[in-house]
Amino acid sequence: RIESNPLVIEDSFEGYPLNYFNLPLHYRDDLKSVLIPYGLVQDRIEALASRIFSDLHIHIPEQLICMCVLKGGYRFFSDLVSKIQNENRLRNDRSLPMSLEFIRVRSYVNDHSSDQLEIMGLSDLNVLNNKHILIIEDIIDTGVTMAALKTELEKFQPKTVHVVSLFTKRRKDKKCIFKPDYSGFEVPDHFIVGYALDYNEYFRDLEHICVMKESGIAKYRV
Ligand code: 5GP
Repeated sequence: RIESNPLVIEDSFEGYPLNYFNLPLHYRDDLKSVLIPYGLVQDRIEALASRIFSDLHIHIPEQLICMCVLKGGYRFFSDLVSKIQNENRLRNDRSLPMSLEFIRVRSYVNDHSSDQLEIMGLSDLNVLNNKHILIIEDIIDTGVTMAALKTELEKFQPKTVHVVSLFTKRRKDKKCIFKPDYSGFEVPDHFIVGYALDYNEYFRDLEHICVMKESGIAKYRV
């Protein structure tokens, strides 16, 4: 069975040197290393898609509402949904119908979590009533955002709510308060960027998951 637990990136792994990769010129000086190359991210998403497909197809003919948490989750959402579509295309014995929703949640200022959560996008949350939902998130750090989001969505009494996060962070200070049903990678306690994950709206246009230099963090601080 394909592993739904995260692939663990150890603290001792400092990432790959930048010179082995093609990186945008506009970010080269701001990055320390490539922590997870794009290709590995894709391979892991393919495995998550197979696992989610085999776990959640049991609800058919009902649709699974795939909920994209913007903006950071958009690349993961798009690749995960298209890999589940591949499973649908290639299998004759089972399928998983999906509908797509987009919400926006904001809790970060600079590289720190704030306790204020804004949920925007879905005009009528009542559409979630009696439905199966898969929340597709980029990264869970303290877990505060996802715990708050799930509590909020559960008020509308969906039938099931599953959460998939591409990354979970191994925090140095205290434990994360939320464990997703599916996770791609567990990463060390660094601020990571790339593959739609941003730092103050920079670095979304970077393919690989990278760790920033201190000078990069300072340069784009607002
Ligand atoms: P939490 O509430 O779990 O602390 O934070 C969740 C949100 O914070 C994520 O959806 C993401 O937007 C942001 N976040 C947390 N850690 C990181 C990180 O290492 N890099 C980036 N780019 N965003 C992060």
